[in-house]
This record gives sequence, C-alpha cells and structure tokens, in this order.
Amino acid sequence: CSGPEDIHETRFIMGTLVEFTIADADKERAEKAITAAALEMQRIEDTFTIYGTHPNSVKDFNNSGINTPVILPKEVSDLLRVALKIKQQSQGAFDPAIGGLNLLWGFSGSDTPSLPPAQSAIDQIKPPSTCIKETEGAWMRTDTRCLLDFGAIAKGYAIDRGIELFKQHGINSAIINAGGDIRLIGSHGDRPWRIGIRHPRNKGEVIETLELEGDVAVVTSGDYERFYIHEGNRYHHIINPATGHPATNSQSATIIADNATLADAWSTALFILGEDGMKLTNNLKYKSLTIDLKGRKAISD
Ligand code: ADP
Ligand code: MG
Ligand code: MG
Repeated sequence: CSGPEDIHETRFIMGTLVEFTIADADKERAEKAITAAALEMQRIEDTFTIYGTHPNSVKDFNNSGINTPVILPKEVSDLLRVALKIKQQSQGAFDPAIGGLNLLWGFSGSDTPSLPPAQSAIDQIKPPSTCIKETEGAWMRTDTRCLLDFGAIAKGYAIDRGIELFKQHGINSAIINAGGDIRLIGSHGDRPWRIGIRHPRNKGEVIETLELEGDVAVVTSGDYERFYIHEGNRYHHIINPATGHPATNSQSATIIADNATLADAWSTALFILGEDGMKLTNNLKYKSLTIDLKGRKAISD
C-alpha cells in the first residue's frame, strides 16, 4: 500500500525482488538511503550464501575438517548463535545445519528440480541433532553431514540491517519488502501501513490485511514459492529436519514480531511445526498466523 508521495525502488537481492518504500523523505535523501540499504543487503547475501562462487566463511566452514576449529567473523558467529538458540527453542524444527539436505533437494539452486532424491541419499546426508560446537571463540563441525545454511534467517537479518541503514539516514517511515517478508517503521502519513498476507494457493488473493505502525516485522514461510508436484505430492523448500523431507503441516506460517531476523527463523519453524508450534511462539509473545494443509486459518490471540 502506498501513496503518491512515496518513493519506491525495487532491486533484485537474495534471489528475490526487494521493494523499498519511503514515506517521509525527499527524493534525494530517499535514494541515498535505498542505495545504502541495498548495498548492505547484498553484502549480507554474499556473506551468508552457500550458493554461487563468491567465497565466504560459511562455505569455508562447510568445507572444513571434522573437529577442526574455525574462526568465523563476528557477524556470522553472532547469527549462528541466534540460529542455534532458535533450533533449541523450536525443538529442532529450525535447524541451521540442514545445508546438506537443502543442497540435495536442490530447491535453492538456479534450476528448480522436478524429482525427489532417493531415500538412501536423504538418509546419508541427514545430520544428527547436534553437530556444530562452539569452543573458545571458534566453531567446529563434529560430523561431515553437518553443513550450515542460513537460508531461513539471513533474509530477515538483511531486512533488519536495511532498516537500520534507513534509520541512520534519518528515515523513520518506510517499508522493506523482500518477496513478502516485511519490516516497516513509522506510519504512512497519518495512517498505519497496510500489509497484506498472501493466500498460499490463490495467486493475487490476500488472506489477511494487517494495519501496523511503529517498528514491526511480518515474515511468512510458504510452500508455494519453490515447489513442484510429483505423483500428486507437493515438494517444496522447507525441510523437516526430523524426516529429511519437505514439511507437511502447513501451506503457510506468518510471524509478526519486532525484528525480521527472529520472525524469519520462527516463521520457518512454525511452518514445520504447524499449529502446535503456536504454543511456542505464543510463549515468546509473537503474533502468528498459520494456514494448515487443508487451508484452515489459525490466528494467535
Ligand atoms: P523463504 O525462502 O521463502 O524465505 P524460509 O525463510 O522458510 O523461506 O527459508 C527456507 C530456506 O531455509 C530454504 O531454502 C533452506 O535454505 C532453509 N531451510 C529449509 N528448511 C530449513 C529448516 N528446517 N531449518 C532451517 N533452515 C531451513
Ligand atoms: Mg524463514
Ligand atoms: Mg524467509
């Protein structure tokens, strides 16, 4: 939702269209803020991605020897600590060590696959429940099946950093929307921002409209962006670490929280856990919305 005075820019970052909207600045200041935010978000993609040829410490870690300490940059180390905490809080549903499974299922590469991998290949790469250790400022893999993958949290982190740069540029009313994952600040003139949550099956349809202002993130995980149908079954890019297969509890899960990093990780966890996961997110005081496999909507109180 936007008004005539809003400044809009769209960039392609992190494999998705990122839309920047600024409501409280002249064109020149807004352009500067957007350029800075976009550069920062691109830097974060390069820092965390396990795809492509750009070298980074995450890829190095994934190639490191077993039980060999590796010093990660502070930023990577900090986000990994957050991720491992959420892994524990989500009873293993969110797991930053499922990179091997992710690469095997192949959804995040440049080509969308069309056939599920063999069960034997899944069994071979499925990581044990703990396989990353922090020791004296360094990290190590304790198992070859353990490959880091920040795909379910780095986009949220990038959005948070983009908003931080907006604030540093004196922007106080804006939205960053990275393929439906959103953080907003301030308001839209004298009104709240209006945010629509996409229907997981009917393209162009909205299942819920939220009116929000202040400092809020709205992040959704769904089975409708990267998927294929094989023999009547839908295969998509969110893996249940317990089975090694795409999760089967939800069509979509949305978290509303005050930052996009946590909202991103928890939307993935909630997607995997389904409505049961709402008890966990309620305890953490997040608002949430799930659509189960039958299309039934549940909203937290
Ligand atoms: P989106 O890609 O639409 O933002 P998510 O935030 O749910 O959706 O992230 C999905 C990505 O996270 C996958 O492409 C993969 O890289 C990674 N991933 C898949 N399953 C899990 C999981 N159980 N825990 C952590 N990361 C996961
Ligand atoms: Mg996520
Ligand atoms: Mg996401």
